[in-house]
Amino acid sequence: MEKDKVVVIGSGPAGLTAAMYAARARLNPLVISGSQLGGQISITYEVENYPGFPEGVAGPELVELMQKQAERFGARLVVDEVTEVDLTQGSPFTIKTYSQEYQAESLVIATGASPNRLGIPGEESHIGRGVSFCATCDGFFFRDKDVVVVGGGDSAMEEGLFLTRFANRVRVIHRRDELRAGETLKRRAMENEKMSFIWDTVIEEIIGNGKVQAVRTRNLKSDATEELTTDGVFIFIGHFPNTDLFKGQLKMDSQGYLVADERAMTSVPGVFAAGEVQDSVYRQVATSVGQGAMAGMMLERWLEERE
Ligand code: NAP
Repeated sequence: MEKDKVVVIGSGPAGLTAAMYAARARLNPLVISGSQLGGQISITYEVENYPGFPEGVAGPELVELMQKQAERFGARLVVDEVTEVDLTQGSPFTIKTYSQEYQAESLVIATGASPNRLGIPGEESHIGRGVSFCATCDGFFFRDKDVVVVGGGDSAMEEGLFLTRFANRVRVIHRRDELRAGETLKRRAMENEKMSFIWDTVIEEIIGNGKVQAVRTRNLKSDATEELTTDGVFIFIGHFPNTDLFKGQLKMDSQGYLVADERAMTSVPGVFAAGEVQDSVYRQVATSVGQGAMAGMMLERWLEERE
């Protein structure tokens, strides 16, 4: 069993920043990557609102830079997934991955969030066969095709706009008659010739035979149903926090987000949380980085006070 002063679970902006701060404090942190090295940012085509990059920066490039910076100060990254944690006995905590068991004096949880699903017939069975939660990952396969986007938030607009690079037509299906997205993205989406909007409408079924062929929609005002032919369904209806590992061990809010105090500490002393696993509001690279920095600084203080 490996013993560490600091283990960080998750390798997105929050985890890598916490690791960089811990590394600069000579705590030799270990980062366990999780299933997606770099987290959500690694599948983001372009980040336009992270300070310091006036022309924008590709998500994978930004995460690579963050990783390099953390490693430069001594952070160690292992590509592995945590399968179990035991926080019940207090510090040191036990962390099991597919290949190792670790004991950590302090822990940073930066496991992020995952996309919500619609929970309708045909959704699960068509994932990777026309149903997608990531335009950057799958947009390329829809060159000259017709796709629908579900959702009215910033993600739906941003990803919908990205899809216009490939698809012939991008129809946004939104359950209300007003977008939730901010003004800039809203305007860009509305002005894009390839994008159109179907208001007050939900999808009730995704129809296909091995791959997506159509969606059955219902207009919530008129109750009219319709079958729309399409090649792809891109779903952007918010996220849920990746907190399954910690159920029954850490305090969570009603939506399952970890509850952390002003020192970024969870309900168990020595366990810190940063990024989207504890933030349902801001969800920005800039805010996740800030929360990671807080966790990195506070765990150093916590370890010092203990000694
Ligand atoms: P969001 O803002 O929560 O929007 C989710 C959208 O999905 C809403 O329009 C919502 O409809 C719709 N929706 C939710 N559940 C649904 C369901 N079961 N069926 C149909 N529609 C459903 O999520 P998000 O777009 O992922 O954004 C999350 C946060 O990240 C926001 O704070 C956003 O500003 C931020 N973000 C920022 C950027 C950027 O700055 N470039 C990019 C992406 C995300 P209603 O509107 O009716 O509730």
